[in-house]
Amino acid sequence: MTILNAFTVDVEEWFHICEVDKEEIKFENWDKLESRVTGNTLKLMEILRENNVKATFFFLGWIAERYPELVLKVKKEGHEIATHGYAHKLIYKQSPEEFTKDLEKSIDVIEGIAKEKVIGYRGAGFSIKKESLWALKIIAERGLKYDTTIFPAKRGHGGLQTFRLYPHLINFENDLKLWEFPISVVNILGKNIPFSGGGYLRLFPYWFIKQAIQRINRKGQAVMIYIHPREIDVEQPRIKLPLYRKFKYYVNLKTTESKIRALLSDFKFTSIKEILSL
Ligand SMILES: [Zn+2]
Repeated sequence: MTILNAFTVDVEEWFHICEVDKEEIKFENWDKLESRVTGNTLKLMEILRENNVKATFFFLGWIAERYPELVLKVKKEGHEIATHGYAHKLIYKQSPEEFTKDLEKSIDVIEGIAKEKVIGYRGAGFSIKKESLWALKIIAERGLKYDTTIFPAKRGHGGLQTFRLYPHLINFENDLKLWEFPISVVNILGKNIPFSGGGYLRLFPYWFIKQAIQRINRKGQAVMIYIHPREIDVEQPRIKLPLYRKFKYYVNLKTTESKIRALLSDFKFTSIKEILSL
């Protein structure tokens, strides 16, 4: 049986990177920065269309508000529209009240444009950690059906190494439920290694990513690919970052598009909504 894997896109700008304390990319200054999200997202959509794949697009509410026509174009192609929160804040740096406000604002904006119910959420920077697990219940209470914010491996600003690895249903009291689809990892020498998105997907050679997907698919489990429009944008402005972060954000931008094309031809993909039959 061919396993259907999830293809997901976090629709945000080149300057929406986490934990960088730079004046020029602070929230107050976002409107002054060059926007590149539309062109890059349309290009990703074109690649998906060529391969006849429907994906899940997690829109940042701030982006949806400014580019409603982009939301509508993604919807028209038959992709799933989900939310990436409103202002790209790390969850563990917010109080439950602040988090709720940000989540609700994003849902209101996106549903207002798409005229359909949003059922999926992914927080900025995979920031549901042990100390911010409270967020899952709020996500369920706000009527969403699944979350994809858990990163079951070590990570700079996120990570929950002890978490279950594959999609599963979380039950709260009063029959409240939420699906969790954690980021895909492979276990190598006792360590969970992420490989299926962002800097990891750009860094690892294609053969490694392919074998990792095959390994997980052989267990009957789906893999989740996650990418950002900026990751196929070789021309994007560069933010001055410390060396290791510069490497993480800008390594192999040139080869990402061909990696995505190889993935789409070697494996079957669809949206999270389809995989979880929601
Ligand atoms: Zn993001």
